[in-house]
Amino acid sequence: MSKKITIAIDGYSSTGKSTVAKQIAKQLGYIYVDTGAMYRAVTLYAMRKVMVTDDRLSEEALLRHLPFINVNFKFDEDLGYGVIHLNNENVEKEIRLMDVSNNVSKVAAIPKVREMLVAQQQKMGENGEVVMDGRDIGTVVFPNAELKLFMTASAEKRAERRYTELKEKGNEVTYEEVLKNVEDRDHLDSTRETSPLVKADDAIEIDNTNLTREDQFDKIMALISEKTAVK
Ligand code: C5P
Repeated sequence: MSKKITIAIDGYSSTGKSTVAKQIAKQLGYIYVDTGAMYRAVTLYAMRKVMVTDDRLSEEALLRHLPFINVNFKFDEDLGYGVIHLNNENVEKEIRLMDVSNNVSKVAAIPKVREMLVAQQQKMGENGEVVMDGRDIGTVVFPNAELKLFMTASAEKRAERRYTELKEKGNEVTYEEVLKNVEDRDHLDSTRETSPLVKADDAIEIDNTNLTREDQFDKIMALISEKTAVK
């Protein structure tokens, strides 16, 4: 028997949080929640309605539309986790595009947007046995999570990984563009007024600049074993 826990994974953009979170959730049979996908879906809605562009954000219009924005995950048997839907449309692919990445941190800085999504995240994780990744999970969404991880890696390494991933999916991007996006989001996410990205005091930092995925997974599973051991 082992204890059922809540695992909060926060950290900078493109540190591989979601990859490792999915692996862990699968291993433990826990629910996986990608909170970044939720902010991306709201951003996509705003972009489609031209409420947000590279140089303009109409916060007031977006706030008026919030009651009509329904973001949720529909479980996919084959993948083994929930796929993000915006008003019943599968938007998993579209939310990963560069133009969404370029606008998401502006939308995520709006307190009312955060309030709506945080409430939903807390509901999804209320029964524990959840792995949730984002920027404020260990600080705001689940401050009492039994295990908090804070992931970092050099900006260059992160951009390199994200660039390769985007290219593999057939996206037309340059490494410089991806690096700029990673650095801009780090800055906006860490300096916003509401729930900025900060390491929770009790979070364990994992710098994966020089770690393989396997090593990182093993390291995290060892931390989980400590937390779930029934003493
Ligand atoms: O995790 P991902 O890179 O997909 O997140 C996209 C953006 O959503 C982040 O750069 C951040 O602006 C925002 N976000 C957030 N709080 C979270 C998760 C994501 O502000 N919990």
